[in-house]
Amino acid sequence: MTATAVPTTTAGSRTEKNPGPVGAVSVISTGTVQIHPQQRNGTRLPLFVWLMGSRSWTPPLSINVYVIEHASGLVLFDTGQDRASVTDPDYFPGGFAGLLYGRLARFQIGPQDSLTAKLASAGYTASDVRLAILSHLHQDHIGGVPYLSKTEFIVADAEWQDMEKARPELRGLLRRHIDLPGVRYRQIKFASTDDPALAPFLAAYDVMGDGSLVLLPTPGHTPGSMSLLVRRPDRAPLLLVGDLTYESGLLEAGRIPGVGDKAELHRASAMVRQLEERNPGLVILPAHDPGAAERLRSANA
Ligand SMILES: [Zn+2]
Repeated sequence: MTATAVPTTTAGSRTEKNPGPVGAVSVISTGTVQIHPQQRNGTRLPLFVWLMGSRSWTPPLSINVYVIEHASGLVLFDTGQDRASVTDPDYFPGGFAGLLYGRLARFQIGPQDSLTAKLASAGYTASDVRLAILSHLHQDHIGGVPYLSKTEFIVADAEWQDMEKARPELRGLLRRHIDLPGVRYRQIKFASTDDPALAPFLAAYDVMGDGSLVLLPTPGHTPGSMSLLVRRPDRAPLLLVGDLTYESGLLEAGRIPGVGDKAELHRASAMVRQLEERNPGLVILPAHDPGAAERLRSANA
């Protein structure tokens, strides 16, 4: 095949354009989480005031794990919440930090909701997973780490460095569930890019070296939070944004969540909206957006 040839594949009697290295993209959810509306929708109140005072909770929200079939192997974006967090009384730290965790979120995770069980129901096994990209290191994104023994994990170096600072548990980082013996982490740095399709982002990390899975820095929720752009020649591009927003409609409306660095969240959200303008049809898929699964199905149709 010459460099300019358009490769083709044969499906049944039809000859189709090569769909590129990305195959099926799907989403599973490791149970549900309830947070305070102030966290989801944003608030002018100081964090400590609503965290300790709020009596209202959102409806149960999904804890999404995106499953991407790539020609080089199976890739996850985030790994969900560990069921051990609702069965093991020692999962969370005690004392003040433990109190904060109890105030931040309530989880419902049945035996059928574990990452392993959800992967199985989607037709995969944990040992199929070659790579798992962690949008950030909060508990509801790192829950699968102990169960993916064949997997290399990708994390932003800024996120890892934040975990190495004093008292990470007070910033939502449970190091003893993340930095486990034998687990392989690739701490990535973003490289400058002049790809016009990525503008206004000027830094990116090409996960597979083929341009199909591109990580973009979207800090704010945490210092090393990142989003994954999934590019497929024959389908709408996807942007998996982790917890940059809890609902794509809120991001579109210029609203930011109630936790994180507000200036950074505004900046990263504005960049995502500009990216959307350059990539018409871009599908924004947050980790806890109740509409994400349906939007992904439509994007795949
Ligand atoms: Zn989350």
